[in-house]
Amino acid sequence: MSNLSDQITQFRNMVQNDPENELGHYRLGQLLMQDNQHSEAAESFRQTVGISPQFSKAYQLLGEALVKAGKNDEAILALTDGFKKADERGDLMPRDAMGKLLKEIGAEVPSFAKTEKTQNLPDGPGGFSCKRPGCLLGNRASRVEIPPMNDELGTQIMENICAGCWSGWLKDYSVKVINELRLNLSDEKHYLEYDRHMREYLGLEMDKTPKI
Ligand SMILES: [Zn+2]
Repeated sequence: MSNLSDQITQFRNMVQNDPENELGHYRLGQLLMQDNQHSEAAESFRQTVGISPQFSKAYQLLGEALVKAGKNDEAILALTDGFKKADERGDLMPRDAMGKLLKEIGAEVPSFAKTEKTQNLPDGPGGFSCKRPGCLLGNRASRVEIPPMNDELGTQIMENICAGCWSGWLKDYSVKVINELRLNLSDEKHYLEYDRHMREYLGLEMDKTPKI
């Protein structure tokens, strides 16, 4: 994974060999966006949501890619659809980002059902609230009992992420990331890729992650 075009080639091969790999399509889309290939990126995000219609963040990126490609009509369709799906699921961050984008391109924002905010609530009785976007427990959540790792990220997880969200990552999504992206965590570059997905899943700051 030395540079952008190599990474693009690598992920293109991956999805060609394994067309049902939604994370492969998703990552390819992000790389194509970085490379300013917006129409191509939109195609990858379309594949992602075709396989995983509940993947609201992929709808958001699909909309962004279409807008950057100058395809506002298609963007409106994708964003409206994605907005509704994100609303149903309570994925408020992607939903609100899609609403903002719809407004920016002069389209109508669908009305939404879920207004309950679980983010930035005052701490609950346990003196804690989960900051993961989409956490269903919010300030009723409980902390992770011991830091999952002995570094700054472990501390961030302890302070911000509830036990339920952490185990959701660990037991379910992380396995998917490792398997679908065929990561070997003893390889540093693969570990960084894993770390990126983990931070994205948990809604933690990305800026300390080195770019690869
Ligand atoms: Zn949580």
